[in-house]
Amino acid sequence: MQPFVFNALPGRVIFGFGTLSQVGVEIRALGCSRALVISTPEQQMQAAQLVTQLGDLAVGTYVKAAMHTPTDITLDALQEFQQAAADCVVAIGGGSTIGLGKAIALHTDAPQIVIPTTYAGSEATPIIGQTDNGIKTTQKTMKVLPEVIVYDVDLTLRLPVEMSVTSGLNAIAHAVEALYAKDANPLVSMLAEQGIAAIARALPRIVDNPHDREARSDALYGAWACGVCLGAVGMSIHHKLCHTLGGSFNLPHAQTHTAVLPHAAAYNAEAAPEAMARIATALGVDDAPRGLYDLAKSLGGPTSLAALGLKKDDLTKATEIACASPYWNPRAIEPRAIAELLANAWAGDRP
Ligand code: NAD
Repeated sequence: MQPFVFNALPGRVIFGFGTLSQVGVEIRALGCSRALVISTPEQQMQAAQLVTQLGDLAVGTYVKAAMHTPTDITLDALQEFQQAAADCVVAIGGGSTIGLGKAIALHTDAPQIVIPTTYAGSEATPIIGQTDNGIKTTQKTMKVLPEVIVYDVDLTLRLPVEMSVTSGLNAIAHAVEALYAKDANPLVSMLAEQGIAAIARALPRIVDNPHDREARSDALYGAWACGVCLGAVGMSIHHKLCHTLGGSFNLPHAQTHTAVLPHAAAYNAEAAPEAMARIATALGVDDAPRGLYDLAKSLGGPTSLAALGLKKDDLTKATEIACASPYWNPRAIEPRAIAELLANAWAGDRP
């Protein structure tokens, strides 16, 4: 066994079907009684139903959560939080809603109960990304780690197939990078392999039948496992490229992860052979980068950055930004090779 350091994160996880009914009990268990329920505009019906379910335990709703946690929305939500004299946040939705809950916690120290309805994984991390004047910055602080995660598989049955695929591959990306992280450790690597395997076997079934409860359950379990990986160890070139493309070129989050991942894995393949072997085993293929590409393609996921709207002329700028302040990576960051990686991802070539 190689020497390692493992930092366990606190948090309570409730996983199952119909677990939404337990949110009230969880609010009380935190010593709270005045929840602000938050969501995106698209999920305001779900937020309203939850408010009805919670009765007196809910003192307000805020339904304007948006992608990349814009600070003006956070300030607006904070006003609502204060006016309602809320003492905790209940976030129902994907990474955007959970991001807003984290931002409120960052300012108020309010405990959070999060109910994830996508596979993005933010619920399991002490990481928050916020956008101010179009610039996204990320910080890591225990203040934003949610106290309670309520995974209710029933809530994912209506996640559109296209989003299920890209969000699932977004989750797999966390596990892929965890396997070659500088601070990788045996426990997180085991979770990473399990997470990749669970999502990879669930997604084809979800594409066939979005209401397949067993597949949805596998995918949500995998999302938790991959989210834990993201929260536990450092991420590398893949996440750096996706943050660059999302932050500076406004590309959609989960779709960008889907298109870039096979090429980032190919970039690192020779430098991280053990990780590649474990990814390939989890996917049930011989070659990890090609397996990731084939999985995305077979599920109808986006495989090219061009199709996501990135202009060819932007590739040089994207390379410059990504190489200017890179995250640690198992292979040295070589600007010319990164340009090639991005060109391949732009064209959508099989690695
Ligand atoms: P999202 O939260 O933006 O959701 C996309 C859309 O799908 C929204 O309109 C949402 O309301 C809707 N939706 C969500 N679940 C649904 C469901 N079950 N049924 C129907 N519609 C549903 O997308 P996302 O990919 O989950 O989150 C992306 C954001 O999360 C980005 O801003 C990203 O940076 C952030 N993120 C942060 C972390 C972290 O650790 N801080 C990790 C992963 C992602």
